[in-house]
Amino acid sequence: MSEKRTEISDLGEFGLIDHLNEKVIIKNSSTLKGIGDDAAVIEAGDMVKVVTTDLLIEGVHFDLSYAPLPHLGFKAVAVNVSDVAAMNAVPKQITVSIALSNRFSVEAIDALYEGIHAACEHYGVDLIGGDTTASRSGLVISVTAIGQAKPEQISYRSGAKENDILCVTGDLGAALVGLQILEREKEVFLANPEMKPDLGKYTLVTARQLKPDARVDIIHELREMEVVPTSMMDISDGLASEIFHICKASGVGATIYEDKLPIDKQTFDTAVELNLDPITCVMNGGEDYELLFTIDQKDFAKLEKHPDIHFIGHISKAEEGKFLVTKSGTAVQIKAQGWKHF
Ligand code: ADP
Ligand code: MG
Repeated sequence: MSEKRTEISDLGEFGLIDHLNEKVIIKNSSTLKGIGDDAAVIEAGDMVKVVTTDLLIEGVHFDLSYAPLPHLGFKAVAVNVSDVAAMNAVPKQITVSIALSNRFSVEAIDALYEGIHAACEHYGVDLIGGDTTASRSGLVISVTAIGQAKPEQISYRSGAKENDILCVTGDLGAALVGLQILEREKEVFLANPEMKPDLGKYTLVTARQLKPDARVDIIHELREMEVVPTSMMDISDGLASEIFHICKASGVGATIYEDKLPIDKQTFDTAVELNLDPITCVMNGGEDYELLFTIDQKDFAKLEKHPDIHFIGHISKAEEGKFLVTKSGTAVQIKAQGWKHF
């Protein structure tokens, strides 16, 4: 009799995480939140600590033929800091672990760490440890970030309630469009190494892909305005996928409006040039590292004038579903595509 074999692709990334979580039993009352949010939450005296980790693999998450090492170091920190911010916590410490082959020189590692140090400076975090080991070929970077907040400041994915307002920071879709440009220019270069890529027209979108900035600024501003989002997460897998996460965790539905979705002009124009639908880039792009959050209507007036927070829709009852209302007024069901890793 052959043994049962289930393909990872049958479960998908999130299905696999749910599957692993089924066997997890939390034993310590200090573990306030384990698997299932942007970061775990741990009791620490009067405060809580949040902890999150991410793994970046050469050839899967980055391509050194166009990602400069300092940018990569910065990004490895930023994506973790983004998950700390997504809990409405302030990042404080990171650990950095690397696996590398003899393909990398000390100078190359110095370049990577130049970016890591720049990010530590930018986000006000301390590098407090890590691990260094050998790899057969590619570079692997794993960063863990620790943040801090008062218990009542933490925003989980699960707190959205009917009539809350859905908000996003910044603009969306740029990192995906930037990746397409970098991939296109790489192909052109491989076909003809004499051709020097001219990325001048695409600086915003390529920078968003290579060196994203986590929105810790927004966390500080929310504190100043005394607003605690009812739910929050960062947008790493595309807006549609993240709306699904918030709705699932909170047991709610959502309606968003196409004409409210923030997209930069360069992202829009470049998407059109690449024959991509700009709204699809916004909904299903990846690696924006902006924040998606919900607020109680009573807090709307406090945020209304903020230049970088956009009110894209509202939370409804679960049975009302998840819809995008197009510019022509048609309600289209939202499908969570996100990134498929398997
Ligand atoms: P994010 O995109 O915000 O980084 P992920 O989708 O990577 O979040 O992870 C979702 C949740 O699953 C997090 O709580 C994360 O810690 C947890 N998780 C992911 N992979 C594993 C794993 N292999 N074992 C245990 N928990 C995991
Ligand atoms: Mg996240």
